[in-house]
Amino acid sequence: MDFYVEGTPIRDEKAPDGPIETRWDRRRFGAKLVNPANKRKLTVIVVGTGLAGGSAAATLGELGYNVKSFCYQDSPRRAHSIAAQGGINAAKNYRNDGDSVYRLFYDTVKGGDFRARESNVYRLAQISVEIIDQCVAQGVPFAREYGGLLDTRSFGGAQVSRTFYARGQTGQQLLLGAYQALARQIAAGRVEMHPRTEMLDLIVVDGRARGIVVRDMVTGEVSTHFADAVVLATGGYGNAFYLSTNAKGCNTTAIWRAHRRGALMANPCYTQIHPTCIPVSGEHQSKLTLMSESLRNDGRVWVPKVGGDARAANDVPESERDYYLERIYPSFGNLVPRDIASRAAKHVCDEGRGVGPGGLGVYLDFADAIRRLGRAAVEAKYGNLFEMYQRITGEDPYEVPMRIYPAVHYTMGGLWVDYDLRSTVPGLFVIGEANFSDHGANRLGASALMQGLADGYFVLPNTIGDYLADGPFETVDTAHPEVAAAVSEVVDRITALLLVNGDRTVDSFHRELGHIMWEHCGMERTEEGLRKALELIPALREEFWRRVKVPGSGEGLNQSLEKAGRVADFFELAELMCVDALHRTESCGGHFRAESQTPDGEAMRDDADFSYVAAWEYATPPVLHREQLTFDHVEPTQRSYK
Ligand SMILES: Cc1cc2nc3c(=O)[nH]c(=O)nc-3n(C[C@H](O)[C@H](O)[C@H](O)COP(=O)(O)OP(=O)(O)OC[C@H]3O[C@@H](n4cnc5c(N)ncnc54)[C@H](O)[C@@H]3O)c2cc1C
Repeated sequence: MDFYVEGTPIRDEKAPDGPIETRWDRRRFGAKLVNPANKRKLTVIVVGTGLAGGSAAATLGELGYNVKSFCYQDSPRRAHSIAAQGGINAAKNYRNDGDSVYRLFYDTVKGGDFRARESNVYRLAQISVEIIDQCVAQGVPFAREYGGLLDTRSFGGAQVSRTFYARGQTGQQLLLGAYQALARQIAAGRVEMHPRTEMLDLIVVDGRARGIVVRDMVTGEVSTHFADAVVLATGGYGNAFYLSTNAKGCNTTAIWRAHRRGALMANPCYTQIHPTCIPVSGEHQSKLTLMSESLRNDGRVWVPKVGGDARAANDVPESERDYYLERIYPSFGNLVPRDIASRAAKHVCDEGRGVGPGGLGVYLDFADAIRRLGRAAVEAKYGNLFEMYQRITGEDPYEVPMRIYPAVHYTMGGLWVDYDLRSTVPGLFVIGEANFSDHGANRLGASALMQGLADGYFVLPNTIGDYLADGPFETVDTAHPEVAAAVSEVVDRITALLLVNGDRTVDSFHRELGHIMWEHCGMERTEEGLRKALELIPALREEFWRRVKVPGSGEGLNQSLEKAGRVADFFELAELMCVDALHRTESCGGHFRAESQTPDGEAMRDDADFSYVAAWEYATPPVLHREQLTFDHVEPTQRSYK
């Protein structure tokens, strides 16, 4: 094919074999250790202070390494993880409802539509249990039930109740826990904190990741930091679509720059579209708001049975409502996984049965729950989410159903990492949403927090030592040609962005890119649409570099400049996302190719041809390295939630 070339296959060299239950133990035992005195001689850079980066930096500091931590916010505790609402999964089985490590593993492999590695997912399920203990010990105020045990609720794709939560603010409470641990290490002098500092490039010296080039976002100064290893915990890239539930600052620059320096990018087309978001209200909008999946525990999703029904929701009698998720998927009902619920919502709206302005919405109705449990109980569980909804829409969800529609929410793709969370650049580790590791083609709700904290508190601190045991590595400084080249590339790029001095704002380009991506690489993809996107994106990118207007200078706070650099990287990433989506002619999880569906409209995988991770090398055209997936425990089947 013309849009990519085939490269050599890639393997996860660190993945252990043998009984799956003991793989993680055996890898930990096999990994080299660094003795405490030597840890003091080693420096690790951790970019990102969300749940993944915050927990990693705190733990590495506690272990005795010298840590340098970076984030672009004014405080590490303002990382996007703070927005997480619904909860975090763990196979504790407090409910005695049949949960186990194996079941969490099974649900996650199946939920990911058989495009994740079994070894990784099993380890994630094992560690889930330790995460809850760790966070409780830190004082994270998880909800408790009457008997005093931690309470749980249900999330999509599972028939057991395994999601631990702190009202609708789970991310915030978990992040405060990680932040406390980080702050302790900052105070102890083990972690050097650099807020309002943006990584703009990775420094690779003699084939190893040895540092980063950063810009001080207040003074504009460009400088370098060096270390024996670099960890990227820089979050997801859903904002390539412009409108998403992500914080406005979320971007791809750190991982995209690392990709350009040799790190393979895996499965970039796997995007999660979340079914329960407040619908888009107009062109002026710059951000979408999630209504947590936890609401589907009690909220019932419906649309009128007949298209064009303009009556107010409460005037539509019960017999004229279609609770379509309960009808089509009776065993999981409203708690089908996100990819399935999103497509079903799109489908009923495409049929003309959508509600609200433009017909792009479905109801999420709590009337039954309020009748059954009482308003006070519903308020206790979801009060802050209801309040948020009311403030944004002006409608009272205790009185009328919420209106919701799918929106971009999470990116399963990311930098390729092995079982040790090491990228293809030696010394570069990638954790949290920034890597591709555990969710396959679709992430189950409440699994991102679990993965971020598993990576940061438990996996990386054990595996990074295997690499660092060969350090400390030779000292590098700014005089080194590869360092000087990286710095001058960053400076030249900033200068180039400022020099264009065109007539279109950065946001106008970003919004247009988002439209292209949503239209052609969104909830449903076709060969024709993706080919069209691959014509439109390069043309828009070329126009960007001709017409973008970045006011101000590089010598101080300049948010347009920050955004311009990020949007320039989104253009390049978006093209790769479309290439990845185009080459994968099957449907799987969040990647729905219209040409590949079952007669009843469900995603149709092609295991014979596509049971692999697509790991892309930066080149023109991009080079595809396939990592074959094998399933010894969960047999790939047509995913059914009926
Ligand atoms: C609204 C919302 C609700 C969610 N609710 C849930 C939930 O209930 N349960 C669940 O499991 N998941 C949930 N998720 C997903 C989950 O919150 C994220 O996947 C997860 O928090 C990502 O954590 P992270 O540590 O990988 O990255 P982030 O929290 O995004 O942190 C990224 C960090 O990297 C830094 N950074 C990025 N780029 C640079 C750069 N170039 N230079 C310097 N620093 C940089 C940022 O400053 C930040 O500190 C939700 C997501 C959203 C959007």
